[in-house]
Amino acid sequence: MSLISKTAAELGAMIAAGEVSAVEVAEAHLDRMVEVEPKVQAFLHVEREVTLEQARAVDTRLRAGERLGPLAGVPIAHKDIFATRDMPTTAASKILEGWRPPYDATVTARLREAGLVILGKTNLDEFAMGSSTENSAYHVTRNPWDLSRVPGGSSGGSSAAVAAYEAPLSTGTDTGGSIRQPAAVTGIVGMKPTYGGSSRYGLIAFASSLDTPGPFARNVLDAALLHEAFSGHDPLDSTSIDAPVPSVVEAARQADIAGMRVGVVKEFGGEGYQAGVLARYHEAVELLESLGAKVVEVSCPSFRTALPAYYLIAPSECSSNLARFDAMRYGLRVGDDGSRSAEEVMALTRAAGFGPEVKRRIMLGTYALSSGYYDAYYGQAQKVRTVISREFDAAFQQVDVLVSPTTPTTAFAIGERADDPMAMYLADLCTIPSNLAGNAAMSVPCGLADEDNLPVGLQIMAPVLADDRCYRVGAAVEKALESRWGGPLLKEAPSL
Ligand code: GLN
Repeated sequence: MSLISKTAAELGAMIAAGEVSAVEVAEAHLDRMVEVEPKVQAFLHVEREVTLEQARAVDTRLRAGERLGPLAGVPIAHKDIFATRDMPTTAASKILEGWRPPYDATVTARLREAGLVILGKTNLDEFAMGSSTENSAYHVTRNPWDLSRVPGGSSGGSSAAVAAYEAPLSTGTDTGGSIRQPAAVTGIVGMKPTYGGSSRYGLIAFASSLDTPGPFARNVLDAALLHEAFSGHDPLDSTSIDAPVPSVVEAARQADIAGMRVGVVKEFGGEGYQAGVLARYHEAVELLESLGAKVVEVSCPSFRTALPAYYLIAPSECSSNLARFDAMRYGLRVGDDGSRSAEEVMALTRAAGFGPEVKRRIMLGTYALSSGYYDAYYGQAQKVRTVISREFDAAFQQVDVLVSPTTPTTAFAIGERADDPMAMYLADLCTIPSNLAGNAAMSVPCGLADEDNLPVGLQIMAPVLADDRCYRVGAAVEKALESRWGGPLLKEAPSL
């Protein structure tokens, strides 16, 4: 079996045993990228020599007897929203074109320290605003299952890279669903850790009370290994939780859910959902029952109001966060010819540097925060947020985890929702409540929809700091389905 077909855990073990070098593993993935990138276009920046240099350094460290973690030498692709000191960081925006950060994000620094080798920076919706990666200012990324479809978003480059076997692992960020939704529509595993469980330091901010870094992988154990490698308290992030990282790797290995109480969220999964998505979802719930879980229906009526509340809170925070792109500090500067005031240069730069969706969010947020409207919009949305958290708390008194479909539909066609922001926003209907409440949530593949043969994701939600439960249930589902399917959903590297 070729190196690109191995799991991250297998690659890490082979490298540690000296059976293969980090350089050889990196080369195999870089070669795969040369082959399929023209079609998938998952990456914004790839610098072969920088990657190989990192791999050589890891090989040297290992030969010197340094004890690195289980993923030492394993390649990874980072969403281009994490600062990397040796590669550009643009958030897929023209306003940051060519910007090279002088430092690493905590996530990238910790993974570098653990010996992971960066293959490149992946495409995303500009500033992580979107659900299809079509809002990138650079190019569209394609879903490896069907190149005419989107790979989800905003972390669509990261999901496509892993689904196309260009990388065994990648990072993403989830503010409203941007890890779980792309994972679901590309048939891979994606995890949104508990808010504050993974560091935001060095992550280009979208909505700071929601932004959460997390892992993508083709199987649950690999996702757990990556989760554990970058998570944990970070004094550089003011909302980082000072508590031990839940034992997610152990939970992924356990994969036993006998006696667990699973709540089916009544509000998710009715009208407006694709039939094939619902069929796979209902089968997954039956599967959980057959594995010994006790399944009950749980009602969380306010989850229906999560989407509108999110579209007030997230744009409000974005309008404030994106004020830092003032043409003075980073990236693009337009019209600075000595004849214009700083204010004029700022206005020209922001007009030229931000794309339409980013401008829409800044305007929405500025309006929602303006005096006279603040209480009616932002204040009201914050109250809804509190009610949603309370409904989660009440539900988790009754059950250990909640489940729902991850997304209402499978991957949609490129262009299909590009001019319809409301249709685009609906992709995150089921994922947003966990962002507002800050609890842990995962998407794990549960089959292909009959209509289009495209992947369907099962969402597993767990209480704050009970991330391990997502991994336990996710691994149990994966194990049972793989024995049914005779292997993983994504059996081998797709020929593109
Ligand atoms: N699709 C949602 C949005 O556009 C969520 C994005 C995200 O999680 N970064 O805001």
